[in-house]
Amino acid sequence: MSKVYFIDVTNRDGVQTAKLGLSKLEKTLINIYLNEMGIFQSEFGFPTTKHESLYLQANLELAEMGVLQPIRLEGWIRAIVGDVETAFKLVPDIRHLNLSISTSDQMIYSKFQGKKTRTDIISNMVEAVEAARALGAETIGANAEDASRTDLDFLIKFGLAAKEHGADRFRYCDTLGYDNPFTIYETVKTLAENTGMPIELHCHSDLGMAVANSIAGAKGAIDGGQDAYINTTINGIGERAGNADLVATVLATTKAKGFAEKYRLGSPIRLTKASKIAEFASYAFGVPIPINQPGVGANAFAHASGIHADGVLKDPGNYELFSYKELGRGKPKFVETGREIIAGQYSGISGFSHVMGKMEVSFANREEANEILELVRYANVESQKPLVEDELLFIAKYPQIARKLLTLNPLE
Ligand SMILES: [Zn+2]
Repeated sequence: MSKVYFIDVTNRDGVQTAKLGLSKLEKTLINIYLNEMGIFQSEFGFPTTKHESLYLQANLELAEMGVLQPIRLEGWIRAIVGDVETAFKLVPDIRHLNLSISTSDQMIYSKFQGKKTRTDIISNMVEAVEAARALGAETIGANAEDASRTDLDFLIKFGLAAKEHGADRFRYCDTLGYDNPFTIYETVKTLAENTGMPIELHCHSDLGMAVANSIAGAKGAIDGGQDAYINTTINGIGERAGNADLVATVLATTKAKGFAEKYRLGSPIRLTKASKIAEFASYAFGVPIPINQPGVGANAFAHASGIHADGVLKDPGNYELFSYKELGRGKPKFVETGREIIAGQYSGISGFSHVMGKMEVSFANREEANEILELVRYANVESQKPLVEDELLFIAKYPQIARKLLTLNPLE
């Protein structure tokens, strides 16, 4: 029986979102939280983008050290040989790649404007896959951008060519959020049957159906005999109206009628981390979690009307599909209401030692404390908001990695 896996793309699609961004330390913490949650793979960034190089290298080092294990770290690039070469030049240890090219006639005629034909699309992908393999890629996803507006026979041809030359998975992108659960099920099932490739579902929410389309597409892949890999982002943050929300998609896969019993996860997901990851992404992006967000919204377990409150008090199962505890909610939160000392870009050693002392972090000597404080200052310069406890703890625990994450050198 085929299985469902999750690939989170917050650190790629999420940061591509207009008006939003993350610091390299925030991206790193997201990888750590995704790993803690049991997510199979993180699309952790752009290996051809110079300012990402040190961040990507540092995260691969964390993987080597066992900190980012077993999560798989994969980079997103265009399916062009030149980009594959640049990726391996800037990030030599990268082992997992997603190679992207547009496949629809809309994009061929109106984006490439006569510079590429369908034959070129296939040969670009095939050459990029071969180059990636030759340079040491262990897994390769062939990404069909705008797949939902692409002729199905061409998509199959594209997938088969990529597979023949060494691609491991087919990423079906509903780039514009155009599919509905019925169309994506049929299309993906046909793709799975005819290409024999595991299928990734990359869905957007322009019509409000990203989560529904993702699980319908996953069902299509599995019914077509292949594993399904659902692309998600934390809190659904992604281009335009966003992507399939990570927590909502995991809930839908594991709790929805007729789905939960029939389809199995490739790896166990620790849902108890849901609340923490959603809150951190909300803080890091500076975007509040809507109160009605599935699982993690402030109202997801709130009851006010007489009948519902009475019912849920008698038996939560009357009006709740799952427990708040499953999502890691229900623990009291500590909020400082008195004096507060914050570590920031202009902090001194005394305030900093006080902040770290509260988290039971002490330093061997003043020199070491000064070194960590300096890194904290730089981290604050990059994020421009107070660092959360986990960020401070990360810097104290992995100062050499933090130094790498905080190094930006545009003059090189
Ligand atoms: Zn996307």
